[in-house]
Amino acid sequence: MKAFDYVRADSPEAAVSACGMGEARFIAGGTNLLDLMKLQIMAPQRLVDISRLDLADMKETEEGGLLIGALMPNADLAAHPVVRRHYPVLSRALLAGATGQLRNKASTGGNLLQRTRCYYFYDPGMDCNKRAPGSGCSAREGFNRNLAILGTSEHCIATHPSDMAVAMRALDATIVTLRSQGDGRRIPIADFYCLPGDTPHIENILEPGELITHIELPPPPPGQQLYRKVRDRASYAFALVSVAGVLDMKEGRISSVALAFGGLAHMPWRDPRVEERLLGQEPSPALFEAAADILLGEAQGYGSNDFKIPLARRVLVAALRELTGGGIQ
Ligand SMILES: Cc1cc2nc3c(=O)[nH]c(=O)nc-3n(C[C@H](O)[C@H](O)[C@H](O)COP(=O)(O)OP(=O)(O)OC[C@H]3O[C@@H](n4cnc5c(N)ncnc54)[C@H](O)[C@@H]3O)c2cc1C
Ligand code: SF4
Repeated sequence: MKAFDYVRADSPEAAVSACGMGEARFIAGGTNLLDLMKLQIMAPQRLVDISRLDLADMKETEEGGLLIGALMPNADLAAHPVVRRHYPVLSRALLAGATGQLRNKASTGGNLLQRTRCYYFYDPGMDCNKRAPGSGCSAREGFNRNLAILGTSEHCIATHPSDMAVAMRALDATIVTLRSQGDGRRIPIADFYCLPGDTPHIENILEPGELITHIELPPPPPGQQLYRKVRDRASYAFALVSVAGVLDMKEGRISSVALAFGGLAHMPWRDPRVEERLLGQEPSPALFEAAADILLGEAQGYGSNDFKIPLARRVLVAALRELTGGGIQ
């Protein structure tokens, strides 16, 4: 690990001010950043410790949604009675991630900003456009079992690893920030993450030194909620394919639906065409297959991850069957 300067912030304003100078990074739980610093994949000159800021609580908004502090530990968010009751998709997604010990330490903001688990990104001896722009991508022709099949580019096929972000995408969360100029932004999660394109090192639209202070959820959506994660081991493994689903039915037809996927793309993936195909329809195996055709119509495998295309189809169909009351098969 390279030497770095350390500052503990005592207010959000002090944090953005301290992070605005030089090559600096916020540190919350440290469960991703410290690993990357030990490997010298990230080498900030300054760490701004935000872990003691008063941003670890949660309150209901006037509209009936939730305002979640960016420092709320993943374990507390998953266990909160309001989340378990009204946003079970979020609770289940959090509990599907990491381990109890890590979830105690990991924060809501840090979880959204954790970096890819592409093996080559973590190996400084290998070419990686995300770690060293312009060096090439070892994964395209290499071992890419856990990498993306949608929204990829010739420069990067990495996936976003967060389970929580997938649920947040299905719930239409808004990310609330504070910038060094003293103003803040409200960023819909749909606009927050970037596809790799030819700049895979740019993963989201945050500016340097911009602090996530809260994540806001709209009022609880009607209907059923589900989070389903397929992985190589029953725990302590990132998603090969995951789905967060929220679906309501009226008079036998699908009246509202949101479906977000993990493990498939550089960001939590949501395809409005899939939801449009389902809306107003009576559930049937043929309808579910048609939705999967749309989701995967442009999917591209890279060898070791070809299996994800049929796997994602089965995950989507099973999720729709469960959400529409057809039981799990
Ligand atoms: C062994 C292991 C297994 C795991 N398995 C899973 C899994 O299955 N699913 C899953 O989803 N996750 C998994 N994780 C990842 C874990 O959830 C993340 O490491 C954690 O959520 C990151 O939160 P943190 O507070 O520790 O972030 P940090 O490590 O402190 O920060 C991560 C990044 O976010 C930035 N940052 C943090 N907070 C803010 C903020 N408020 N504003 C702006 N920038 C900020 C930091 O500067 C840094 O760049 C696993 C991690 C490990 C080590
Ligand atoms: S897929 Fe992306 S993160 Fe992985 S080696 Fe290629 S450029 Fe790097």
